[in-house]
Amino acid sequence: MGASVSSHELTDGSRVAVVGGGPAGSLVGYFLRRMASRAELDLAVDIYEPRDFSKAGPAGCNMCGGIVSESLVQMLAVEGIILPDTVVRRGIESYVLHTDVGSAAIRSPVEERRIAALYRGGGPKGSNVGQWGSFDAFLLGLAVQAGCRHIPARVTGLEWAADRRPLVRTADGEGGIYELLVGAVGVNSPALSLFRDLGVGLEAPKTSKTFIAEIPLGQEAVEKHLGSAMHAFLLDLPRLQFAALIPKGDYVTVCALGRDLDPETMTRFLASPPVRACLPGDWDLPAMACRCRPAINVGPRGALYGDRVVLVGDCGVSRLYKDGIGAAYRAAKACAVAAFCRGVSRQDFARSYAPRCRKMVIDNTLGKFMFACSAVVTKVPFLQNAMLSMTRAEQASGSVRNDMSMVLWDLFTGSAPYAEILVRASSPRFLGTFAWHAATSLLRSSGRAGRDNGRS
Ligand SMILES: Cc1cc2nc3c(=O)[nH]c(=O)nc-3n(C[C@H](O)[C@H](O)[C@H](O)COP(=O)(O)OP(=O)(O)OC[C@H]3O[C@@H](n4cnc5c(N)ncnc54)[C@H](O)[C@@H]3O)c2cc1C
Repeated sequence: MGASVSSHELTDGSRVAVVGGGPAGSLVGYFLRRMASRAELDLAVDIYEPRDFSKAGPAGCNMCGGIVSESLVQMLAVEGIILPDTVVRRGIESYVLHTDVGSAAIRSPVEERRIAALYRGGGPKGSNVGQWGSFDAFLLGLAVQAGCRHIPARVTGLEWAADRRPLVRTADGEGGIYELLVGAVGVNSPALSLFRDLGVGLEAPKTSKTFIAEIPLGQEAVEKHLGSAMHAFLLDLPRLQFAALIPKGDYVTVCALGRDLDPETMTRFLASPPVRACLPGDWDLPAMACRCRPAINVGPRGALYGDRVVLVGDCGVSRLYKDGIGAAYRAAKACAVAAFCRGVSRQDFARSYAPRCRKMVIDNTLGKFMFACSAVVTKVPFLQNAMLSMTRAEQASGSVRNDMSMVLWDLFTGSAPYAEILVRASSPRFLGTFAWHAATSLLRSSGRAGRDNGRS
């Protein structure tokens, strides 16, 4: 155990309840059990998760675009966790950025890095699960292999026992008293109010409504129209921040993020020429297509921990818009290390877990600024042209100077912290080259306007 000994230490025979077996919950359990077995400590970890991730459709799904960032693939590999081929539906090797004025293809900046496209559950409603595996089932399986107990039940009650230890209840009588309660219920669960009602200042985070749909195109059409590229869209549509078409086997996942997206914005997005150009001519979203409007975490509101209770993953702090699973991994590891090495009191989490959360909150502020800048670019055609022409020039030259390509790649795949991307995007070389492309595109468009006026 760590140097600092607290009266709230996890010791031999301690019990931890993890509510929610998505990535955050499974990984907290996995890390806790791994540290316990190395220290030869008898630590019981119960993960409460009612969802059967092997099922296709909403019953098995934790609603997500299903992109696992390069940085997460690498971090998992360092832990000895390799994503099985049956879980990765597609390796994404490039992406194509579409704007209202044109598009540009960007290859993975570092050839050996790959991002993975997968399903969190068994796949879209009505799909054939066949040989495919679910990402969340894979992670929960790892936690169970590490010694966690999976309790397939929904938690319906949380309270404090007489000795101020947390008490967990389920509808079918499972539950008990624990030394530590970990909340990992995401942002789409009514269980958030159970944590608020514990009365230690925990609050559901701020959220925004998003949109996901699964388009059944068939393998051949997916290959022909999208290949191994993720198609990202920066379009001038109200409320829409960013959207993507992600190829996965027989399906294409449509994933859109923004400010409380409504069905009308999504209809306009799907009918827009850049999206139509990526799909077969006669295509229409079938009425029965698997679709949902999940909430996404856009910032914490209250406390993230108290004595013997802590929130991780989406119900705590996540990364803004991108790499939520990577953020869940980082938070889960920080939470497990804090609880195991320091203790489970409020002060222990304040010392050991809070700095990681603060870092993410600060990075998200920079991310907000970067997305605000990209929203400005989408409204000004000559800036869109400048962004595309700088990207195309870099891709055509094959040079190592991939300034714009790297910034866009990392911004849209979530492969680097926003702070790192912002530093690169504010370098004199980046700004100088962008200004040159902007001036050229402005001159070109004013020359074109002059010729048009002369003709009329
Ligand atoms: C539209 C959209 C697209 C996204 N795309 C991506 C992407 O491409 N890549 C990426 O990295 N991230 C993406 N994310 C973010 C990602 O989905 C989340 O960051 C991630 O799922 C967080 O994991 P989690 O374990 O905290 O929560 P969740 O995945 O939401 O898991 C919470 C779990 O808690 C369980 N639970 C809830 N209530 C109870 C209860 N009462 N008792 C027991 N269990 C309970 C649920 O069944 C669920 O399994 C996207 C999010 C949205 C909304």
